[in-house]
Amino acid sequence: MATQKLPEGLHLDTLAVRTAVDKSQYGENAEALFLTSSFTQPDSETAARRFAGEEDGYIYSRFTNPTVASMEMRLAAMEGTEACIAAASGMGAILLLCMGLLKAGDHVVCSRSVFGSTLKLIGSEFGKFGVQSTFVSQTDLAEWKAAIRPNTKLLFAETPTNPLTEVCDIRALADLAHNAGALLAVDNCFCTPALQKPAALGADIITHSGTKYLDGQGRVIAGAICASEALIREKLIPVQRSGGITLSPFNAWVVLKGLETLGIRMEAQSKRALELARWLESHPGVERVYYPGLTSHPQHALAMAQQSGQGGAVVSFDVKGATPQAGRANAFQVIDSTKWLSITANLGDVKTIITQPASTSHGRLSEEQRQAAGIRQNLVRVAVGLEHLGDIQADLAHGLDLLT
Ligand SMILES: *Cc1c(COP(=O)(O)O)cnc(C)c1O
Repeated sequence: MATQKLPEGLHLDTLAVRTAVDKSQYGENAEALFLTSSFTQPDSETAARRFAGEEDGYIYSRFTNPTVASMEMRLAAMEGTEACIAAASGMGAILLLCMGLLKAGDHVVCSRSVFGSTLKLIGSEFGKFGVQSTFVSQTDLAEWKAAIRPNTKLLFAETPTNPLTEVCDIRALADLAHNAGALLAVDNCFCTPALQKPAALGADIITHSGTKYLDGQGRVIAGAICASEALIREKLIPVQRSGGITLSPFNAWVVLKGLETLGIRMEAQSKRALELARWLESHPGVERVYYPGLTSHPQHALAMAQQSGQGGAVVSFDVKGATPQAGRANAFQVIDSTKWLSITANLGDVKTIITQPASTSHGRLSEEQRQAAGIRQNLVRVAVGLEHLGDIQADLAHGLDLLT
């Protein structure tokens, strides 16, 4: 598809604002929203060539759409990959990836600490179709290595993880995957390309939930996969055409405009998150804080090297609580004592969000799976937005001060 001609060597902030398909004949400065299911063809011969893939051209919005293409090009440019394919949601993107790359008898090694639905999708749903999987410690490279089998096709990691912000070494995992003839996929939801570029560290595939920071204002559900042009053309586009996990043009347009402010949002939200994490660490109602920007974080040095020196905008913490019952009650008290923070399952919004992972994002896991993932009942997750830090702290203090 035609792209606007941009000079080589532009920086992420510029690519985030400028990368798009060619303008229409009207010369619109803001990218157009093409809300159309299909595209008319000049004649039958052209239609035949386009359907056969012999000529570029838009046909039907399940396959391609200019607004969706702009979002894909922009995200690929920011991730530093050749190509990108959008999907209806972050999970839709991971589904597309698994359907495109795996068949019965193949094996996946995946971190035990990935997003709850990813665990379910790879472990349970794809298990039904004969795809084998092994779940390993996020941070123990030896465990990843030991799990690799001759039929291992894919290593899947997410870093930092949700909600404990555990960090894995992308370059080391990429080497491990490549030595085994497998591919490494990284879910880059928490850092986004503004802070972390997995492709530059050797990852073959980057998955995104566009619902989170890429949109950035909590408006739409969206997803994407960034990878080489060959992988997307040969493995993923055929599944997308037949499977229809397509992103709507409207949602693509919202994400496209969200990407324009991604760099400044991530910087501002990370800055607030670091200050909030330091404050929480010093609060007597808090047992432990999980945030890669803190020197107390077990992979602090790795995170700082891998994430442009920033921790991201998600801070999790264990409140006091001697038993799981007490922990849950205290976590609920901290959450329910807030007056205006959003109690909701999303993250990546400019509105600060607070949740108890054990009963929400990780609620479908068994208690055993939760314990293996380190998600305790007294854990609270805060996805820091753009409000004034002092106001966020004051709202959290209502409940935290009751614990001291
Ligand atoms: C939210 C999320 C997903 C799934 O994205 P959806 O857009 O909700 O389908 C995947 N990975 C991570 C890390 C997430 O936070």
